[in-house]
Amino acid sequence: MYQFPFGFQFPFLQELQQMTKIRPFPYSRVCVFGAARSGVGAMHLLRHHNIEVTLVDERPAMEFRSLIRRLRRSYVTAHFGPIKEDVLRGCQAIVLSPGISLTHPLVQQAMDRDLPIISEVELASYFACAPIVAITGTNGKTTTTTLTGQMVTDAGINAVVSGNIGRAFSDAVLSSQDESRRTVLVTEVSSFQLESIEEFHPHVAVILNITRDHMDRYANMRDYIEAKYRVTLNQTGDDFLVLNADDPLTMKCAEESSAQILTFSMTKEVEEGAFVADGRIYLKEDGKVTPFCNVEDIPIPGAHNVQNTLAALVMCRALGINADSLRKTLLKFKGVEHRIEFVERSKTGVVYYNDSKATNVDSLEKALLSFKKPVILIAGGKDKQSAYDRLNSLIKERVKTLILLGEAKPLIKKAWGSLVETKEAATMEEAVKIAAGASRTGDVVLLSPACSSFDMYKDYEDRGRTFKRCVRNQLGL
Ligand code: ADP
Repeated sequence: MYQFPFGFQFPFLQELQQMTKIRPFPYSRVCVFGAARSGVGAMHLLRHHNIEVTLVDERPAMEFRSLIRRLRRSYVTAHFGPIKEDVLRGCQAIVLSPGISLTHPLVQQAMDRDLPIISEVELASYFACAPIVAITGTNGKTTTTTLTGQMVTDAGINAVVSGNIGRAFSDAVLSSQDESRRTVLVTEVSSFQLESIEEFHPHVAVILNITRDHMDRYANMRDYIEAKYRVTLNQTGDDFLVLNADDPLTMKCAEESSAQILTFSMTKEVEEGAFVADGRIYLKEDGKVTPFCNVEDIPIPGAHNVQNTLAALVMCRALGINADSLRKTLLKFKGVEHRIEFVERSKTGVVYYNDSKATNVDSLEKALLSFKKPVILIAGGKDKQSAYDRLNSLIKERVKTLILLGEAKPLIKKAWGSLVETKEAATMEEAVKIAAGASRTGDVVLLSPACSSFDMYKDYEDRGRTFKRCVRNQLGL
C-alpha cells in the first residue's frame, strides 16, 4: 500500500523533479498553426529549445500587430492571412491549437505529406521537467485546478497553474524551465486535449466526474469516456490516479490504469483518499481515518464544491502537503471568478453572488441547490435551445423573484413566469436595481443566467464583471 510521504514532503518533490527527464524532441522545424494563446505559447517553448518555427494563422496580419513586433526578436517565420500553398515546406511536424478541426485544408495537407500532427499539450509534454498534476472531468475542472494550485503555493512550492483560465500549458512548461525552485505544474485538461496525447504523463491525475457533454463532437459516449481515460495512459505504479467513488464511469478507469488509485466520496468511506460522513470531511490514509474539517466550514457554496474540495485534498496529500497547510488554504479560498463567486453583502444582510459562468440549465441547477435561503435570480441571455421546464420544481421551491434579461426572456418567461414572481429588465443595471428592491435580510441575489452571454456581452466574463460593477454601484460602494 502507498505510504503518504508525511514529514519529508519537500525532498520527495525534489526527487520527483530530478526523475522527470525532458524527452528528446525529434523535430528541428515545426509549423505552429493558430496564433492565439496556445499557439503563441507553443511557439515560445519551441524557440526556447532552438527549434525553427513557422507560425501560421488565417486571420489578417493587422490583428497581430503587437505579436509581430515580438516575433522579430524570436526569429520566427510568420504567415498571416490566406494560407499559401507552400507554407509547410521544410516543416517536419505541425502543432495544432485547440479548436482547429482535423478537416481543415492545411491539416489535410499535412496529413498528405505524412507530417505528425501534435497538439499543444502534447508538444509541451516533451519539455515538461517538473511533476504534473492533471485535472480532468466534465465539470469542476477550473475550480479544482485553482484550489489545488493555491494549496500547492501555500505549502511553499512553486505551482505553475494552466488551463482554461490563465495561461496555456506550454507557457507554464516554459516558465517552469527557468525555475530552479521546487515546481509543480498544475493543469486542467479537457477531453479534446487528451484525445491526441501520447507523451503527457501526469504524476497525479484526477477524473472528477463524467456526464453527457460535448456529444456534438463525439460519435458516442464511449469515445468521450475513452478520451478522459487517456489521462492515465502513461502513468506507472509511482503515480497516482484520483477517482470519484460516487461516479461509476470514472471508477471504471481504475481497471485501465497502472497508477496507485486514490478515491473520494460524498456518501461512503473509501479505501484510501477522502470522504464525507456526518457533515465532516475525513482523510483515509494507510487505513487510518482522520477528521479534516466540517463540510459547512468550506467557504465555496454547493455540494459540487465539496466534491471539488475532496479531489484537491486527495491530490495534495499525494504530493505530500501537510493537512494543516491544506486546511488553512481551504478555509480562506474564495472560489473562482464567475462561478458562484461571492460579490458583496449589503448593510441589510443581502448577499450577492456572481455565477455568470452558468451558461446552461445544469449549472443553474447546481447554483440553486447551493443555497437554502430564498434566491432572487437574475437569468437569461442568448438561448441555447435549453429545456428550461426541467427545473420547474426547483425554481418554484427556491426562487422568490425571477428577473429576466436578454434575448431568451420570452422563452424563460413561458417556462417559469407562472411559477414565481417574474420581472423583466432591459439592462444589468436595471436587473440589479429590481433585485435590490425585492430583497430582504437573509436573501441571496444570484446572477446565474442558464444562457450564453453573446446577445449583450463579449463573453461570460464581461457579463459577470458588469454584474459586479452594478452591484457595487447599487450598494454605493
Ligand atoms: P469546468 O472548468 O469543468 O467547466 P468549473 O469549475 O468552471 O468547471 O465550474 C463550472 C460549473 O460547473 C459550475 O458553475 C457548476 O455549475 C458546475 N460544477 C462545478 N463543479 C462541479 C462538480 N464537481 N460536479 C458537477 N458540476 C460541477
